[in-house]
Amino acid sequence: MPFRAITELLGDRRLVVVSNRAPVDVHRGVERRFVPTVGGMVSALMPVFKAAGRGLWIAWSGESSQKSQERIPLPADDPSFMLRCVQLSERDVSGSYYGLSNRGLWPLAHYFVGRCQFRLEQWHSYRHVNELFARVVLEELRPKDLVWVQDFHLATLPGLLREARRNLPIGLFWHVPFPAWAVFGILPWRRPLLEGMLGSDVIGFHVQSYARNFLACVERFLGLPVDYERGTVTLKDRQVRVVAWPIGIDAEGFETLARAPDVQLRAARIRRQLGSQQMILGVDRLDYTKGILERLQGYERFLEQSPAFRRRVTFVQIAVPSRERVDEYRRMKREIDESVGRISGRFTSDGWVPVRYLYRSVPPLDLAAHYVAADLALVTPLRDGMNLVAKEYVASRVYDDGMLMLSEFAGAAEGLPEAVRVNPYNIDDVASQIRAALTMPREESSERMRRMRARVKREDIGWWLRGFLGEFPLPSGAGATRGDTDAATLRRAVADVANH
Ligand code: UDP
Repeated sequence: MPFRAITELLGDRRLVVVSNRAPVDVHRGVERRFVPTVGGMVSALMPVFKAAGRGLWIAWSGESSQKSQERIPLPADDPSFMLRCVQLSERDVSGSYYGLSNRGLWPLAHYFVGRCQFRLEQWHSYRHVNELFARVVLEELRPKDLVWVQDFHLATLPGLLREARRNLPIGLFWHVPFPAWAVFGILPWRRPLLEGMLGSDVIGFHVQSYARNFLACVERFLGLPVDYERGTVTLKDRQVRVVAWPIGIDAEGFETLARAPDVQLRAARIRRQLGSQQMILGVDRLDYTKGILERLQGYERFLEQSPAFRRRVTFVQIAVPSRERVDEYRRMKREIDESVGRISGRFTSDGWVPVRYLYRSVPPLDLAAHYVAADLALVTPLRDGMNLVAKEYVASRVYDDGMLMLSEFAGAAEGLPEAVRVNPYNIDDVASQIRAALTMPREESSERMRRMRARVKREDIGWWLRGFLGEFPLPSGAGATRGDTDAATLRRAVADVANH
């Protein structure tokens, strides 16, 4: 059981995870329903709570009309932790989540500078939402709690918590890339954002280059002493650790699923229905960072240049709907629909379909079956913090067959050098690498896959959690009771930061 070491590490401490989105969306109709949210962070953290059998997750439920700040035991069928919902108004959601987070910080972190919008009222809203989260965390805290803040939506939360609870162990994991200083520096609120992050004891990134970028920003924009070798920032009264821990997956779980007869049968059915000799797969949330449009162009170029592959190969793209309220996401969806239509129109013949496009989220068994069925996975984001789909595909190749194509700009590329590398912006490169991957001698692909699989299994989700949680300072009896103050301190902290 890979999670036992984590529960041992935590001992009698309670893990309090704080994230913007909850692991489920709460839908209210005649009956209340919980729909799992899709994303790497949720896939990574759910198993820990299941293994620990306890813990608290504080998050926005996805509803802006929600009336009470309720507590919901999850998972509903076999509860192992409590979800405490943070109530956000329509205005909070639109300013902070759809505003600064989605339109400012997300494109900034992914180097899409031209897409960044920075509005002062959205920054205020972001600060306000971080304060609301801080209030809920402080209300819920018990002695010996360990608070783990997730991602860029709540970057100033550690600072607010630190002001109120001097000795509380606080960690922050930044799940997206941390850009180079010349890009991050564009953010008008770079100073308060960095200061807020430094309220943590430990700040985690997926790869070393993100951690170094962060340290460079702290050095340049806050003028604080940093140590690149040891990964530390020195503040007046304490040090902050800055570490790289690449997130892993539940490799054992994916392997078990891949071997399950039901999944094998489904995989065989998928192949049969395609009627092609080879299957290429893409699985992404529909987001411009994922490079779906460029990938389709690469595939189209490949079909143009390699007529021998027509009627032999089908590209299946699963695109999970995401941020449908944002105009540019709706536009991108239209463009992708058009590309799929164009490729189908150009190449479809005699019952052969060159591309199959599924615009929906698929249940776990089906996802596993697609991983098992595919000869080649195209993971070609234009920029991605890590990309778990790449690792899930590798873990599912239990016979060491198949091949992974990986963008140079995905965090996952640092740990999987055996994958076929591409520059996703280079359409010709994508086309020729598809051909190279599909024709790679079996011995070579098998050796590459074996190595990748060994790495994905070794550096799995348990390894990541143990590693990152092991970075927390865990003084005995620390937490909510020592040197603690009250809501007045929080208000002061809030006022201080607001004055920046
Ligand atoms: N995923 C899912 N259902 C789907 C498609 C994908 O649950 O229909 C999961 C997938 O298994 C993976 C996550 O969504 O764990 C996507 O994580 P990734 O790191 O690749 O990208 P992110 O969405 O976090 O940017």
